[in-house]
Amino acid sequence: MSMATTTMSIDLRAATDSRRAREVLLLPLEFGRNIADLMVTIHHDPDRGWHEAAVERTQDLKLSPAAKVFHYGCEIFEGHKAYRWPDDRVALFRPELNAERLNASARRMCMPEIPVEMQLLATHALVDKLRAWVPGFEDSALYLRPTMIGTEPALGVAVSRTHLYLILASPVGPYFKAGTAITVWIETEDVRAVRGGVGFAKAGGNYAGGMAAQQRAKKKGYDQVAFLDAIERRYLEEMHAMNVMIVEQDEIVTPPVSGTILQGITRQSVLECAPDLGFRAAERPIDIEDLASKLSEGRVREMFAVGTAAVITSIGKIHYKDKDYTVGDGRPGPVARRVYEAITDVQYGRRADPYGWMRVVE
Ligand SMILES: *Cc1c(COP(=O)(O)O)cnc(C)c1O
Repeated sequence: MSMATTTMSIDLRAATDSRRAREVLLLPLEFGRNIADLMVTIHHDPDRGWHEAAVERTQDLKLSPAAKVFHYGCEIFEGHKAYRWPDDRVALFRPELNAERLNASARRMCMPEIPVEMQLLATHALVDKLRAWVPGFEDSALYLRPTMIGTEPALGVAVSRTHLYLILASPVGPYFKAGTAITVWIETEDVRAVRGGVGFAKAGGNYAGGMAAQQRAKKKGYDQVAFLDAIERRYLEEMHAMNVMIVEQDEIVTPPVSGTILQGITRQSVLECAPDLGFRAAERPIDIEDLASKLSEGRVREMFAVGTAAVITSIGKIHYKDKDYTVGDGRPGPVARRVYEAITDVQYGRRADPYGWMRVVE
C-alpha cells in the first residue's frame, strides 16, 4: 500500500498498536514525554532529492557520530497539533503554514526545502494512522513535531550533503495548568536573537541559547523568561518558545516581526480574529520601561503568551530590573479568555470555522 505524489510515494505498511495508544492516553500526558509508535521519515541527498518516504515504527536512529547535526547544529523543527472533534473526525490547524515556515527555516540554515505538498501528504498519512493516539479530553491533542537534521558524516564546517526529515507525534494535555496565570522574568543580560541572525527560524540552537536565561528565571521562581531586543535591551520581543501580547484598552498589541521574532501561527491567528471579537490588533514595538509604568498605573489590562503548546496563557506578573509588576489582578483576564475560546472552539470543532483554518484528516 502506498500513496503516490507527482514525485514520490510513501511506504504505508507499518501499523500502530492501538491497545498501546489506549494505555498511553490513560497516563498523565506530560508534554512531549510519550511518543507515538509511528513516525514519518524521508531522506534527502543531492542526487535523488527527497526519497524513501515512509510511515514506520518509531525507533532509535542510526547516525554516524560525525553527523553534522551533532557538531554544527544543523537542525530545524516545527510544532503543530491534530485535534479530535466531537464527531470523532481529526483535524489539523493551518498545517500549510508550518510547512512553509519549515522551508523558511531551511533556507536560512542552508538545508533543502521540502515541498509543502509532500509535507502535508506525509502529515495526513501519519495522523490518519495515529487516530487512536489523538486524545479526546479537554485541551488535549496529538502534538506533531516535524524535524530536519543534517546527517552527513563529515567534520568539515560545511553544508550537510544529506538530510533526514522526520515527523514525531506525541499525545499532550495542556502545557500550563488550566485556569492559572504564569509569571515571567524579563531577561536583561542574555538575548535570544539579533537582526540578521536566526531568530525567525525554528532552529534548535535558538533554544539551546535560551536555556540559561530560562533556567535562571525558574530558579528565581518565575515560570518563563522573556527576551528584549539585542541592541538596546529596550523592546520586548518574545519568550523562549512563545510570542507575547499585551492588551491596552480595546487593543491587542504584539511586537512586529523583523527577523528576530519567531512568526508564530497562533500569533498570526489571534491578529486575524481579534477584530471579530471586538478588539483592534496592532503590531508595534513594546518599550519595556513604558510597559512597566503602564502596568504600575493599571493601563495595561492583560498580557498573554501565545503559541501552539501554550495556546493563550495569561501572564499574571512580570519581573523587570528588581521589581515585580502585577498584570491586572494577577489572574487570567477576560480578553485572554475570549481569544482562547475563539481559537480553541475552531480547533476542537465546537464551532464553524469561519476562517478556513482547519484541515480534516480523511
Ligand atoms: C514555535 C514558537 C512560537 C510559537 O509559534 P506557533 O506557530 O504559534 O506555535 C513562538 N516563539 C518561538 C520562539 C517559537 O519557537
